[in-house]
Amino acid sequence: MSQIIYPTTNFKATQTLTIERGEGAYVYDNNGKKYLEALAGLWCTSLGYNNRELIETASEQMSKLSFSHMFGGKTHQVGMDLAEKLSAMVPVENAKVFFGNSGSDANDTHIKMLRYYFNAIGKPEKFKIIARERSYHGVTVAAASLTGLPPNHTHFDLPFEALGVLRTDAPHYYRGALPNETEQQFVDRITNNLEQLILQEGADTIAAFIAEPITGASGVIVPPEGYYEKVQAILNKYGILFWADEVITGFGRTGNDFGCTTMGIKKPAMMTLAKQLSSAYMPISASVIRGDMYEAMIEQSASVGVFGHGYTYSGHPVACAVALKTLEIYERDHMFARAAVLGEYMQKRLREFCEHPLVGEVRGKGMIAAVELVANKQTGQAFNGGVVGAFAQQACQNHGMITRAVAGSSIAFCPPLIVTEAQIDEMVEIFSKALDETYLFVKK
Ligand code: PLP
Repeated sequence: MSQIIYPTTNFKATQTLTIERGEGAYVYDNNGKKYLEALAGLWCTSLGYNNRELIETASEQMSKLSFSHMFGGKTHQVGMDLAEKLSAMVPVENAKVFFGNSGSDANDTHIKMLRYYFNAIGKPEKFKIIARERSYHGVTVAAASLTGLPPNHTHFDLPFEALGVLRTDAPHYYRGALPNETEQQFVDRITNNLEQLILQEGADTIAAFIAEPITGASGVIVPPEGYYEKVQAILNKYGILFWADEVITGFGRTGNDFGCTTMGIKKPAMMTLAKQLSSAYMPISASVIRGDMYEAMIEQSASVGVFGHGYTYSGHPVACAVALKTLEIYERDHMFARAAVLGEYMQKRLREFCEHPLVGEVRGKGMIAAVELVANKQTGQAFNGGVVGAFAQQACQNHGMITRAVAGSSIAFCPPLIVTEAQIDEMVEIFSKALDETYLFVKK
């Protein structure tokens, strides 16, 4: 089993798979078996494997400048170019960009930025953050505290209160609606709960509301129509910042540049980016904030001019070069428009499974989706534990496809953006076999 402590792995239920190489939308194991990567690694390998342009870019940058940091006035052109390109892409006004290494550390950075900013403008009591149930924001101590999934909390004794984390409803109609509640009534109820929470805590104590436009790791939850419109109206009314965690939904995944565009979220104050930012060829993340927040941090803080935060690898030049090339490829090859067209096809094909006796719901937008398996199709009763999801995941793997069971028994689909229609057909065909085998397993 090697000396590795593996992340989030249940060895009582899982066999190890040694992946050796990748090509396009496929990876190969150490026995040469080929797998369609239907989850783009961990929702990140947008341009697939063995992309020569990205490899050559990394190699050239390594030869030129393999490392330089961004502390104490040092910078480098490729980092500045990337920040400028990102700033022009995002819907955040006059965006300023802080580079990190992962989605988790980018969210930690944002928490510190929020505190720093509100301290700078004389409102230190405004530090709480509203995060949703069933959300995923990472695993560092602070990011895990924002995350709304109990397994990421259990036994870690996380400092929710010290961090000021408040919890509000997940916009998950399928799992969260009351009997006979319409989508509209559901939206009214949960947004009313949000407003009550703000009134109860006091708007003066709440800095931001964090949301994945479409949640990924907790089961691909697409909020109902009207949800974000109401949420934004409430946040605007009480002067609370919208913080979009676009670690999965950024860069074409939902069929638009950002999940914010797809879901009608206008001008978020903050945005977290990672994963597809570099197509996962290098680890890099970005914490993006509004320009006026940065100006206040620099001009008005007690330690004028210094934001005392940074990682050794903040703005790693090789990661910056690869990310910049990734963004250029997205633009040159019209990848977001392509994802919109292919995404529609993928959603249509996956909805063919709605009739299957094991399927409770198929949901998603663009090139991200989940098929939720249920114990009772009529009532939507969920399976206990993760055994059925794990079986389906393994069955897909046996047939040459990698996917992931998330939130118990939802099978996630998030293929590289470069997949073809024929590869989507292949994905559906393999899943169909795996689903039938899972059905027989459940009926046994
Ligand atoms: N935020 C979201 C929405 C994510 O989906 C993830 C990871 O899946 C993270 C943050 C954490 O990113 P990382 O795993 O790079 O720390």
